[in-house]
Amino acid sequence: MVQFYIPLNFLGFIYREIKQAIVDIEAMFAVLARAPEVTDRPGAPALVVSGGTVRFEDVRFSYDAGREILKGISFEVPAGRTVAIVGPSGAGKSTLSRLMFRFYDITSGRITIDGQDIRAVTQESLRAAIGMVPQDTVLFNDTVAYNIRYGRPGATEAEVEEAARLAQIDGFIRSTPKGYRTEVGERGLKLSGGEKQRVAIARTILKAPPILVLDEATSALDSHTEKDIQDALDRVSEGRTTLVIAHRLSTVVAADEILVLADGRVAERGCHAELLARGGLYAALWNRQREAEDAADALARVSEGV
Ligand code: ATP
Repeated sequence: MVQFYIPLNFLGFIYREIKQAIVDIEAMFAVLARAPEVTDRPGAPALVVSGGTVRFEDVRFSYDAGREILKGISFEVPAGRTVAIVGPSGAGKSTLSRLMFRFYDITSGRITIDGQDIRAVTQESLRAAIGMVPQDTVLFNDTVAYNIRYGRPGATEAEVEEAARLAQIDGFIRSTPKGYRTEVGERGLKLSGGEKQRVAIARTILKAPPILVLDEATSALDSHTEKDIQDALDRVSEGRTTLVIAHRLSTVVAADEILVLADGRVAERGCHAELLARGGLYAALWNRQREAEDAADALARVSEGV
């Protein structure tokens, strides 16, 4: 029995290790996933970023033939500016960010960065120029330092800690028993959605890309966490071209331009005050959002015993 037990137990261990490795690889592919037909043109040059102006010109796109998701989208994010995308679920907001990374090629139109069609440059140079802070960050089963350093593998310990400080996660990391050597992920310390997002922000601060794509969490965060994350995001997006899929009022209020996407088209565009005054889709979306935020704050006050 003992003879059987040891090998089976060992096999179980190996199985779990392999399964975990597969989960890691799957998670990585979920982030880096791209359709196989997206390839570099022979002899494609590297993208040359001067200011980092992003333009979508009459972009049309379908995942599957017969169902068009984006039906002629045009907008510009001038170098160093912030454009917020809002809109109902399924409108195509995340699709825009996937197309900017060229995970898929568009059906017609053009996406350019500083005038260069993103299909004409190498994918490697394109992805090196864009930093992504996703809604749901994938953490590797490794230390928190490793997870942050992933943004720039050559970064020193001091640089990793400085990035964490700017991302407002340094205090939390230091409060854990092993600090930066704390294991995180599936097998280690489980981080909350807000903590994971701040790790992603720290990663992006280290990567220091000229262009940023931020995908905010949909769920209402408590106001402390929201303020911490907003401060961290403000730091990381300062002076960088930023496209943000926005779910928080504080983000859109500060954006240079807001695009309201509905059914694959830009339904409304303008700044916060203009769109509110219009009393259309944007006003309806944000009144609903404000009610949800007020309710979350009231709940937090009750649980804090205020
Ligand atoms: P949410 O706010 O809920 O995240 P969204 O505006 O970001 O929504 P997208 O994720 O861009 O919406 O999706 C737009 C549409 O494209 C949806 O109808 C969705 O079902 C469809 N879609 C998204 N990804 C794929 C895919 N890989 N294959 C086929 N259809 C997809």
